[in-house]
Amino acid sequence: MRVVVLGAPGAGKGTHCKRIVSEFDLLHLSSGDILRQERAEGTELGKKAQGYMDSGQLVPDDLIVAMMAGAINNAPEAGFVLDGFPRTVNQAEELDKALEKSGQSIDIVINLDIDDETVMQRMTGRRVCPECGAVFHVTNMPPKVEGVCDNCGAQLQQRKDDTPEVVSKRLETYHEQTAPVAGYYKNTHNFVDIDSSGSADEATEKIFEELRKLQSA
Ligand code: AMP
Repeated sequence: MRVVVLGAPGAGKGTHCKRIVSEFDLLHLSSGDILRQERAEGTELGKKAQGYMDSGQLVPDDLIVAMMAGAINNAPEAGFVLDGFPRTVNQAEELDKALEKSGQSIDIVINLDIDDETVMQRMTGRRVCPECGAVFHVTNMPPKVEGVCDNCGAQLQQRKDDTPEVVSKRLETYHEQTAPVAGYYKNTHNFVDIDSSGSADEATEKIFEELRKLQSA
């Protein structure tokens, strides 16, 4: 099964993708995570992406498409879930072309719906553990001791791109460049809107329902 999960930054793509891959045994391919890994390793791609990422802009399409096509090529037969990619209509078209070459296509597109105000509250309150990757929220999911990771005791950090200024810019980028991707998929693929402003569990339930329908079709 090949799945694309779309949605504004902070819509819960990461959370839902993790749940989907564990329930349906698929590979999780997050463009943001791959880029952060490239940066941590100090690769050429990581260095090129750095400035764009820290200012809330998109990394150029050619770099992203090459990076994700490589990751998809190595994906297992069972399939994958794309998280954070494609983010422009051009990326979506390039993805379709790349899949077509190997006789594949995207089976379903899940679009997570959320308003900007909820995104701002979720993202500016997010805190991550630099050691084990655990994610907390200052009010929605606080750690037991303020600023300290429950799992490993490391000092929690705010991602550079989770500050209010950068979140505003990321939302602007999303509305200008990424929202049209939903329009592209609506007209060309199996497309489902899921309300993501409430509890994550409710949205997960609806997503699983859609994927089960697809599995048994
Ligand atoms: P994310 O963790 O998915 O929000 O991604 C963090 C940052 O990585 C984004 O703000 C972009 O700068 C960059 N990025 C991730 N995915 C893409 C993509 N598909 N196209 C362009 N830039 C991306």
